[in-house]
Amino acid sequence: MSGVPAGKSNVRLQRTVVDELTVRPGTSAGLGSRSTAATRADWLRPAGLTHAHDVAEHDLVAFRQELASAQELLWASDTWALLVVLQALDAAGKDGTIKHVMSGVNPQGCAVASFKQPSQHELAHDFLWRCTAALPERGRIGIFNRSYYEDVLVVRVHPELLAGRHLPPAAADGDTLWRQRYEDINAFEKHLVRNGTRVVKIFLHVSKHEQRRRFLERLDEPSKNWKFSSADLAERSFFDDYQQAYEEALTATSTPWAPWYVVPADHKHAMRALVGGILVDVVGQLDLRLPSPGPGEQEALHAARRALESEDA
Ligand code: AMP
Ligand code: MG
Repeated sequence: MSGVPAGKSNVRLQRTVVDELTVRPGTSAGLGSRSTAATRADWLRPAGLTHAHDVAEHDLVAFRQELASAQELLWASDTWALLVVLQALDAAGKDGTIKHVMSGVNPQGCAVASFKQPSQHELAHDFLWRCTAALPERGRIGIFNRSYYEDVLVVRVHPELLAGRHLPPAAADGDTLWRQRYEDINAFEKHLVRNGTRVVKIFLHVSKHEQRRRFLERLDEPSKNWKFSSADLAERSFFDDYQQAYEEALTATSTPWAPWYVVPADHKHAMRALVGGILVDVVGQLDLRLPSPGPGEQEALHAARRALESEDA
């Protein structure tokens, strides 16, 4: 690729860490044997920092700066969009992660779409439709706070929801439906990647114990009461069913063009730093460069300079 090379920084997650977090396509996600609590105090070993919390903070600041400049390059090179799909159980930290990881990025270059229970209007369309409409345009970063994956997660855990979805009879049949949806998702993401949207899918992996602690914190602290909904408690009783639905979905949809990353979520600082590091890693692979002006454009720039300089001061 021609153009001005982007200033490469050496703030990177170690390759072994990225590999460890990746669900290798064709292998099972193995959520049951993945840690929810790793802090990786030794990812980058910045001088003088020994506490996991400090290391994570240090790394997050560095990754945030990287992302901010990466977004400018994304915009200037006008070829790629970045779609970040964030999935997790309640209280795993999706909102906080978006806030802390993206806070350095120019708001003009970034948009967050949150997907709740679909409206009647949305249900009148196929399950990808509402997400398609929210995709980022070239040059931008789009974040999906939940996504079309809910249609193989919450709907899988609560198949009774299918009754309101107006599906044709053949598609409404149990196992076939989920297999077909995985296929549709894989094909959709391949289409996106081929057409210039890089897809980064991150599952924040929180333990049942830590979810309980965070719910209690929401109940105990008046300033956090608003975050608690009694529906969250009802969903918690399906915790194991969700793990199973995630296990199957991640296994079936981690592909060479759009792999899943599983990020331990019990320690918020470590989680945010890891998410920042993954995004920097993926953007780094795009090899973005500032567009360099061709000979005609160079001449136009010189002419503009001459015109400005010859103006009366
Ligand atoms: P929150 O993100 O905590 O505000 O909650 C949004 C809720 O909407 C979650 O309980 C999701 O499971 C639910 N939701 C999101 N997408 C869908 C969908 N396609 N079908 C059913 N429920 C959904
Ligand atoms: Mg919630």
